[in-house]
Amino acid sequence: MPLLVMKFGGTSVADLARIKNAAQKVKREVERGYDVIVIVSAMSGKTNELVGWVEQTSPLFDAREYDAVVSSGENVTAGLMALTLQEMEVPARSWQGWQVPIRTTSQHSAARFLEIPRENIDAKFAEGFKVAVVAGFQGMSPEGRITTLGRGGSDTTAVAFAAAFGAERCDIYTDVDGVYTTDPRIASKARKLEKIAYEEMLELASLGAKVLQTRSVELAMRYKVKLRVLSSFEDTDETSGTLVCDEEDIMESKVVSGVAYSRDEAKMTLVTVEDRPGVAAAIFGPLAEAGVNVDMIVQNISEKDYGSHPGSVTDMTFSCPINQVARARKALEDAKAAGTIVYDDLVVDTEVAKVSVVGIGMRSHAGVAATMFKALAADGVNIKVIATSEIKISVLIDRKYMELAVQALHDAFALETAN
Ligand code: ADP
Ligand code: ASP
Ligand code: MG
Repeated sequence: MPLLVMKFGGTSVADLARIKNAAQKVKREVERGYDVIVIVSAMSGKTNELVGWVEQTSPLFDAREYDAVVSSGENVTAGLMALTLQEMEVPARSWQGWQVPIRTTSQHSAARFLEIPRENIDAKFAEGFKVAVVAGFQGMSPEGRITTLGRGGSDTTAVAFAAAFGAERCDIYTDVDGVYTTDPRIASKARKLEKIAYEEMLELASLGAKVLQTRSVELAMRYKVKLRVLSSFEDTDETSGTLVCDEEDIMESKVVSGVAYSRDEAKMTLVTVEDRPGVAAAIFGPLAEAGVNVDMIVQNISEKDYGSHPGSVTDMTFSCPINQVARARKALEDAKAAGTIVYDDLVVDTEVAKVSVVGIGMRSHAGVAATMFKALAADGVNIKVIATSEIKISVLIDRKYMELAVQALHDAFALETAN
């Protein structure tokens, strides 16, 4: 039997009527002759609510219990989706991660897949079940504890199942009808892309375009999964949505293909740190151990014999997700108390956002940075930190200018037209 993976995100299963709508799409594929693995997210808003409860109960929570709580939203949807399909006379059953069993690493709240054995689900298909509804976002660690894959992780569950079961395609049903040049919710000129290269999608996702979780794109690229993003609210067929595919299969010739943003960033500066070998390691080691995802890093030019410090000193600035500021602060203050790092002050700015332009054409074109900086300057947006790689340029700016910056960059690179 040919097999499809269909994933429905939170807004697509937000209430019973929407679950029914999604189930109808599944039924249609079953009628076309497919066995279907359906991956479901928690109902819209549910995961945020669960995270809120955990944080209120225990600000520096035990990640194993966080996962136990936060994974539960998907269990509800999986059961409801299976029931809805049964009501439509489609033979279906639900699977929680441990029942498959989906084996992951024990990095709680950021676990990675180790193995998805096919036997149990294959046996049910052989018995005549047509649909396996799997709770997304979750798995089980080698220690037998429930794990989660990081926010947006159901996308990754979907791609991993598509790879493990050799699915013909992995369809990600969501609340937009494809991948756009930027988030269509903040730029009305955003244009839907027919196709996007794995590498560009990977970069856009990792820079904040939450339409696909980064890891899902990584897996799709590695296992050559045919990955498609499409609307769960419209009638769709084989040609709908955006296909994420190899670079060679794309006709567009834009240097920049998309603009991404990440709203919830924070900038932390260690003021007057000693400037000697080993200092960066002494700062970023404890941050890594505390689970802080440090993103951009800037070290200022050193000053000699500053104030109370003999020898050279510098300021060290880095960015991280805003919800990790408390962890980062604690790690740095503990390291200071232990005497492993010395600094005068820790300045935290929680009012920043990151805006990035992405495009594989940047590999062979100069001048993208100049165009980007000029466009931001024209709108009076001050740049606080810059980071570049082969196919992206990111800037950290005041959050209040984020939407303005996204629109300005979308215009500056003429993304509303295809060529
Ligand atoms: P789901 O709940 O289905 O997983 P998400 O909210 O995680 O959906 O992702 C879909 C959202 O991603 C869209 O509603 C849109 O606002 C946002 N988004 C950000 N960047 C893009 C982009 N480049 N193209 C399409 N959607 C984007
Ligand atoms: N429910 C989880 C989240 O909101 C996983 C997902 O929807 O992909 O992050
Ligand atoms: Mg999502």
